[in-house]
Amino acid sequence: MSPASATAPLTLALSKGRIFEETLPLLEAAGVHVTESPESSRKLILPTSDPGLRLIIVRASDVPTYVQYGAADFGIAGKDVLFEHAAQHPGGLYQPIDLNIAKCRLCVAVRQGFDYQAAVSQGSRLRVATKYVQAAREHFARKGVYVDLIKLYGSMELAPLVGLADAIVDLVSTGGTLKANNLVEVEEIVDISSRLIVNQASLKTRAAALQPLLDAFARASADK
Ligand code: ATP
Ligand code: MG
Repeated sequence: MSPASATAPLTLALSKGRIFEETLPLLEAAGVHVTESPESSRKLILPTSDPGLRLIIVRASDVPTYVQYGAADFGIAGKDVLFEHAAQHPGGLYQPIDLNIAKCRLCVAVRQGFDYQAAVSQGSRLRVATKYVQAAREHFARKGVYVDLIKLYGSMELAPLVGLADAIVDLVSTGGTLKANNLVEVEEIVDISSRLIVNQASLKTRAAALQPLLDAFARASADK
């Protein structure tokens, strides 16, 4: 599918929740106001104060798909999501700007009392539950640790508590959720923030409309 015609509004894909909230100041810096919230309006297409720009609200992990196929001209997605997407669809997305929003880290966590270092150094086979299968596979391969990966779609913290896994690979920001579930972080894999991603065709055919927004986002996120 090719991007919409040059007269249609530019479409920015993003997820509700923390990415939407932290994108609002970037849009403001570009002179764009969003008057409706996706939570209260329940709309999936949100207009903005700029008739040339609309937002679409999609699942965080679906943002790269909308942008890659040109249903959105650009989008905002965490590096966690982009890494998993790239493994399946290499090379389709231009990623010009680190927006420095929705910051957290991808890490390995285990149940309190589980001796992770001993398990790793003894060469035991570890069972690891995660939503981030690609990132986890790469991390443990680099360390030379054998793992059985168990794909989950959410609530990873539960897995070590009920014997599904020895360890999890999950996103952590304050560590509050780990602590509440008697888990401890034993290894950081990578720092995460969200990036702006752009459809390759839109970048060429809609440059005049896109570039001022990209510039404003770059300026606003450099201050963070
Ligand atoms: P879904 O709920 O649709 O399955 P999700 O749980 O990945 O998706 P969010 O929780 O809104 O959706 O997370 C969206 C993005 O925000 C993640 O991809 C990640 O980049 C970032 N993120 C996730 N957790 C945190 C966190 N604790 N602190 C900061 N940023 C985070
Ligand atoms: Mg979530």
